[in-house]
Amino acid sequence: MPRDEFLPFSPPCLGDEEIAEVADCLRSGWITTGPRTARFESEFARYLGAPAALGLNSCTAGLHTALVALGIGPGDEVIAPTLTFASTVNVIEHAGARPVLVDVEPDTMNLDPERVAAAVTDQTRAVMVVHLGGHPADMDPLREIAAAEDLVLIQDAAHALPAAYKGERIGSGPGPASFSFYATKNLTTAEGGMLTGDPEFLDRARIISRHGMSGDAWRRDRQERSWSYAVVQPGFKYNMTDVQAAMGLKQLEKLDRMQRRRREIVALYDAAFAGCDALETPARRPEVEHAWHLYAVRLNPDALRIDRDRFIAELEDRRIGTSVHFIPVHIQPYYRDRYGFAPQDMPVAMEQWPRLISLPLHPGLSDADAADVIEAVTEVAASHRR
Ligand SMILES: *Cc1c(COP(=O)(O)O)cnc(C)c1O
Repeated sequence: MPRDEFLPFSPPCLGDEEIAEVADCLRSGWITTGPRTARFESEFARYLGAPAALGLNSCTAGLHTALVALGIGPGDEVIAPTLTFASTVNVIEHAGARPVLVDVEPDTMNLDPERVAAAVTDQTRAVMVVHLGGHPADMDPLREIAAAEDLVLIQDAAHALPAAYKGERIGSGPGPASFSFYATKNLTTAEGGMLTGDPEFLDRARIISRHGMSGDAWRRDRQERSWSYAVVQPGFKYNMTDVQAAMGLKQLEKLDRMQRRRREIVALYDAAFAGCDALETPARRPEVEHAWHLYAVRLNPDALRIDRDRFIAELEDRRIGTSVHFIPVHIQPYYRDRYGFAPQDMPVAMEQWPRLISLPLHPGLSDADAADVIEAVTEVAASHRR
């Protein structure tokens, strides 16, 4: 029996607590960067065990700010995986540097450290490390390469809240690591982001994210000569608002509970799909704690008569929303044409991405919803078996 109502892929999980805190903020007389942003920054840092945190209006802003704060620009190269969201790579272009895309590992689809090592040149300054779907990248070999070649690892932690690698929380180190609070992410402020890392680095990043002005409006509001400011470099407009922080503070209080629910749904999916030869369940390595932002299955082309696109359409007919994470960046028209990539330059990504389907995974999913997803997936697989 198909569902009556469409099951959306990833709606936000918000309650009366967020609504009340946002209303309090709106009534407070201070709606942009101010006391709630400061509190969200310190509570977020404390949650992760990070040295410091900087609230921003997106993860993309955090990645761009990190590059600029590191002084990366024209003449520099930055290595990034091809299987990521476009913004991981777009920001390298914004900084004026050259993105050097590399292929991924077949199981986690994260950066392949051997390919990173092979891509390093005299111009390489940094590596964008994406923790795809919430499964941490293999940090130890990446750190070895970074130390040997004097590179900075910039973590795109958009999916990695909360995740851990060998017992160490992603974003708890000297960083920089950039988190996303976009509407579909594990914690949302509608739009928003947080950069974590070394406090002195974040002081510089804070200035860059506030027009290059030393001291923000709320801090100035409490000083003598509150109208005064100094522009020390042409920065960007990347600050988080207190309305966003109001949502974030309440979401952070619920995060552990929301993660428990994600893991329960993952267990239901794992059990249901364990014996299904038409698809592979997501990889996980023993040394990580997975953030379970995504539950991305991979179809087995040998076992099915239909391709991924048709599989998605059949799930949609059964009123199940899905998504694909991601179309490799090196086949996107801009990057393909600018850098002359051929699809087969990244054979692992090209083998994996046509098989990918991200199934609904969010804390608002009921057991009955999960059962509907399982039934639809197994039914589509069974009716198109080779
Ligand atoms: C969502 C996402 C981003 C961008 O996050 P924003 O907060 O929307 O800027 C970056 N990288 C990855 C892998 C993402 O999924």
